[in-house]
Amino acid sequence: MTRKQKGKCPFCLESITPVLIEENTIRRDKCKCPKCDEEIYLCRSPGCHDFAKGTSVYDHELCPSCTDSVSSAAGEVGKAALKVGGAVLTAVLVAAASKKNK
Ligand SMILES: [Zn+2]
Ligand SMILES: [Zn+2]
Repeated sequence: MTRKQKGKCPFCLESITPVLIEENTIRRDKCKCPKCDEEIYLCRSPGCHDFAKGTSVYDHELCPSCTDSVSSAAGEVGKAALKVGGAVLTAVLVAAASKKNK
C-alpha cells in the first residue's frame, strides 16, 4: 500500500492521512477520511496535498481551497466587468435624468 501524504479533509477539515480504498491507475486513487469516513480524492492542483470531495455524482478535481482560488480569480474578473457595466449604467441614468430635468 502506497503511503499517502497528510492533507486536509474537505469534509471535516482535519489534517488526515487518507485510507486507500481503491487503487486506480486511470483515475485517481479512491481514498477515505479516517475521521469522518467520507470519500475523498487527492487534489489535482500541483503541490497541493489537500483532498477533494468525492460524491456519487461527481468527483471534484480540486480541494475546496484550490476551488476557491480558481473561482475567486474568475469572480474578480466578473466583478470588474460588473463595475464597468455599473458605471456605464449610472452614466446612462444620469444622462437620462438630466435630460428630463431640462
Ligand atoms: Zn474527514
Ligand atoms: Zn488543492
